[in-house]
Amino acid sequence: MTASDDTLPPLGVGDALTREAVLAWLREADGRRLERLWSAADETRARFVGGAVHLRGLVEVSNNCVRGCTYCGIRAANRGIERYRVPAGVVVDCARAAKAYGYGTLVLQSGEDYGLETDWVADVVSRVKGETGLAVTLSLGERPDEDLAAWRAAGADRYLLRFETSDDELYHRIHPDLPGRVSDRLAILRTLQELGYEAGTGIMVGVPGQTYASVADDVDLFRGMDMDMIGIGPYLPHPATPLGVEFGRRLAAGDWPADQAANDELTTCKVIALTRLARPDANLPATTALSLVDRDAGRAHGLQRGANVVMPNLTPPEYRAKYEIYPEKAAVHETAEAIDESIQALLASLGRTVGEGPGRRGHGG
Ligand code: SAM
Repeated sequence: MTASDDTLPPLGVGDALTREAVLAWLREADGRRLERLWSAADETRARFVGGAVHLRGLVEVSNNCVRGCTYCGIRAANRGIERYRVPAGVVVDCARAAKAYGYGTLVLQSGEDYGLETDWVADVVSRVKGETGLAVTLSLGERPDEDLAAWRAAGADRYLLRFETSDDELYHRIHPDLPGRVSDRLAILRTLQELGYEAGTGIMVGVPGQTYASVADDVDLFRGMDMDMIGIGPYLPHPATPLGVEFGRRLAAGDWPADQAANDELTTCKVIALTRLARPDANLPATTALSLVDRDAGRAHGLQRGANVVMPNLTPPEYRAKYEIYPEKAAVHETAEAIDESIQALLASLGRTVGEGPGRRGHGG
């Protein structure tokens, strides 16, 4: 340790990492001091989950959505996008491609779309499992318990549902309830675990009104939740959304709440690194949103600062361009093959290997 290291916020793993230290690291601006956080997160990642990076092929199966999330470009009120559902046979083709690329998991993601009927999803899950043997992860929003149970019975392995922010007031402001149904994602996550799913959650970083103190609460919540996967990405303003408009106005006026968390690469990496320390054996993706805020280094930095999962996008380009949850999604016109090549090259350059098998939590080391 050098003399100035004496003043660094203490780094620890699991319960040994205090909320106070998390908050101090979130506010830390000195790049040299941050090197200590990056190396602690990288060492913890290596020790608990090893050098393998699990690749999970992503298919964005529908951009229809009943919700009014103020941050999201596919919200119901956005009339400016053409809506689609990917036919079942095309999803199964994507699963075959995932298998051919050596991925262990297929992730099916969509808006909260009740046009994706319970039986249709169950049938797709069992076809994908039957024909490829891949693990199947679903991320289809706040569906009723009966749907979640039916899909688990059909063979789905995992379900992703981010709580987005632990600040309840902010959450309900950016994620309005549907009429007569209070949104309680923490309760749904408990149900998913009871049903035997591996459950995943996560947050956006830098939502207007989200403070560093609130992000420290998010990391505390992760610590207490026993999640298998935790997805952390920067909030990316979409101009055709109410929150995107608010972001633009605040940016132009320099009008930010005190302690506003930044939605940049550095802050997102800090949250990934701190989450690796708080939940050392969780699967943490280097998200697409992170690769977008810094196209040159975002994904590499994520993988070097705690992440151990990448989700290459397998959605056929004609659909992918319409799944615009935020503007200018990475590689929107690239083929699955080109995306796969660039991710494999990145892993090779970082000295990391591709994980074999489904990549369950705690089986990567
Ligand atoms: N409908 C499902 C749900 O809400 O969980 C899955 C799809 S939703 C588009 C997946 C995730 O995208 C959300 O949990 C949210 O964190 C993220 N997201 C949506 N809009 C975003 C934005 N403008 N910037 C960053 N992330 C965003």
